[in-house]
Amino acid sequence: MKEIVPAPPAIVRNDYESIRELFTKNVVPSYGRFEIVLSHGAGSHVFDVAGKRYLDLGSGIAVCSLGHAHPAITEALVEQSKKLIHVSNLYFTEPQGRLAAELVKRIGPGKCFFANSGAEANEGLFKLARKFGHDEGRFEILTATNSFHGRTLAGIAATGQEKVKKGFEPMMPGFRHIPYNDLAAARAAISPATVAIMIEGVQGEGGVTPATPEYLLGLRALCDEKKLLLLMDGVQCGHYRTGRFQSFQRILEGVPGGETFLPDGLSMAKSLGGGFPIGAFWVRAPFADLLGPGTHATTFGGTPLACAVALRILAVIEEEKLGDQARELGGWLKTELERLGKAYPGVVKSARGLGFMLGLELAENIPAFAASDKPAALQFVNRLHTAGVLTIPAGTQVIRLLPALNLKPQEAAEGIDKIEALVKSIA
Ligand SMILES: *Cc1c(COP(=O)(O)O)cnc(C)c1O
Repeated sequence: MKEIVPAPPAIVRNDYESIRELFTKNVVPSYGRFEIVLSHGAGSHVFDVAGKRYLDLGSGIAVCSLGHAHPAITEALVEQSKKLIHVSNLYFTEPQGRLAAELVKRIGPGKCFFANSGAEANEGLFKLARKFGHDEGRFEILTATNSFHGRTLAGIAATGQEKVKKGFEPMMPGFRHIPYNDLAAARAAISPATVAIMIEGVQGEGGVTPATPEYLLGLRALCDEKKLLLLMDGVQCGHYRTGRFQSFQRILEGVPGGETFLPDGLSMAKSLGGGFPIGAFWVRAPFADLLGPGTHATTFGGTPLACAVALRILAVIEEEKLGDQARELGGWLKTELERLGKAYPGVVKSARGLGFMLGLELAENIPAFAASDKPAALQFVNRLHTAGVLTIPAGTQVIRLLPALNLKPQEAAEGIDKIEALVKSIA
């Protein structure tokens, strides 16, 4: 008789604990990470190491513009990497030139410089401003309170939030903050040393606050009058997130004088490479040659690989009309969030934003959150994790929805259902 051998015990792998341990031992703890270990994704869904599925409404903080594992991105990476990954900026390459042309086409007459991140793109604009004002001894850049411009030394000096500066003083000189959407305050703040004003078209980290059309047009006129550069940080709000390539194009739609509005410099990153690191800044034509040979550089900026991916993403967005998708489905999402605000005013205070850059502001003192000293936004985001939805806190009271531009209507509905169920349960 054949002996029956019992099946070996299943190999129980605790990937969560082992990966967590690698971080505790080896990774600088500079991030407040959520207790989730992600392993793979497809479209607007990601999976953790235990196989739990999450609807990703954060898309890597507005980065994965085509969602996860998009075949066009894989193909662009594979095809370009077979030809040329990197050669340095000592030489010309076609993808960088073509990407610059595509960006210029979507913004306005000018030129582009390629970097690797948002902070680095902003650094380039700060250097542009200093170069512009150098011979007159002007160097000061005004930025907005609640702004976010990156974590480099100039980035934290430019960022209008104390929490990023704390512990890293002395701050780099040459930055002062002005209240956002307050034109009179901008005018009053200009000193003989001022050379530029930088703002986000929609403040992201600061809690999803769009600039008003009057503010944009007013700043443009003010900068012209005082010979200042108007710089815009489009790192989070750019790249079709609001429904148009840049947020100012959306904000100024149909506004008299809005069609001709352009900033003098504009930074980009996040969605530009869909997850592959790339940053860029655009400079308006009259200033496009200010940074001459030898004045600014970065080894990895605008590699053929990064630019090939960015080009492919732009092609997919155009073919599939994903800007319109972000505008329409984002509009629907916002209406739904506003509905939650009306139905559950004890939990949801307001909904704001444009397209797929939305903020849900939570009410103060939600009783269900009283037991923990964690900020309301963090508690809400954590509970949404349990429900299988990824969102991103902004400050203590706002949660952000920054989904992939190709989020599907049924996925948006799934997100709203889960958010509503949570709101209802804590109301
Ligand atoms: C994320 C962000 C940055 C910084 O970009 P990094 O790629 O993290 O350096 C700058 N400005 C804004 C508005 C951002 O959202």
